[in-house]
Amino acid sequence: MPELPEAEVAARQLRQRLVGGKICDCWVGRDDIVREGLQSLPWYRSSRIEGVERRGKSVILVCGRGGERRYLAAELGMTGLLLLPSAPAKHPQHTHFRLFLDGCAEPEVRYWNPRRFGRLLLLDQAGLDRYTGRRFGHDPLTMSFDEFQALLLTNRSRLKSLLMRQQAIAGIGNIYANEILFRAKLHPNQIANRIQIARLPDLYGTMQAVLREAIRMGGSSVRDYFAPDGTEGRYKRQHLVYAKAGMPCPNQCGGTIRRSVGERSSFYCPNCQRIGRRTTKK
Ligand SMILES: [Zn+2]
Repeated sequence: MPELPEAEVAARQLRQRLVGGKICDCWVGRDDIVREGLQSLPWYRSSRIEGVERRGKSVILVCGRGGERRYLAAELGMTGLLLLPSAPAKHPQHTHFRLFLDGCAEPEVRYWNPRRFGRLLLLDQAGLDRYTGRRFGHDPLTMSFDEFQALLLTNRSRLKSLLMRQQAIAGIGNIYANEILFRAKLHPNQIANRIQIARLPDLYGTMQAVLREAIRMGGSSVRDYFAPDGTEGRYKRQHLVYAKAGMPCPNQCGGTIRRSVGERSSFYCPNCQRIGRRTTKK
């Protein structure tokens, strides 16, 4: 948390509010928040924000100056937030980086993260290509069904951990993986390449539908998450299984939502989500 929908909501808000703005000054509260490229910080002063993109759970500011482009990538995974001045300043000691802006709708954007290690990268084009190349697999909203099917059929991992593996599919974390699998009626520990092929179109469609609906509702506000402008995401109300262990199954099958603890907690209905075996080739 944040996952793809929250990062997409942040990217859209920042695109609308910041593009065209000039960076007048940068403030770094602690050097170790910048994982890469700190020495290039002076370049960003007096550059312009030309675009805002999302890769997986990261938001990337595209900055230009004198025909050259550089990038500021902010990883939002787990606890990071990009905030505008209208957002409530909770625990301001966790604000580690600020950009002061001129010529756009906001005077400032800041990076807030209660964790103490670096989650910002200042990258040139080659650095961005290296960073995105090694960290981000297919985007679940734009990958084709054929790419999705090929990925699953060649993978022996458990389905939920595959959906969450950023180098395979970028942007899905624990909340949305649980919600997608419940709706697709697939067990989190299902081995990916043993799923009946006939069920793959539904899983693919469900994955995209859940993420799109979550974006439309502003994401899910779980723990500390809110959007850059301070609004909370409303998709939490649509959660059917995440953090609902012990509650009756929303399908009214008579079962109870169970929580199993692996590297990340899985929430699922043992009646509705059974491990399937592909006995005959279909
Ligand atoms: Zn059920």
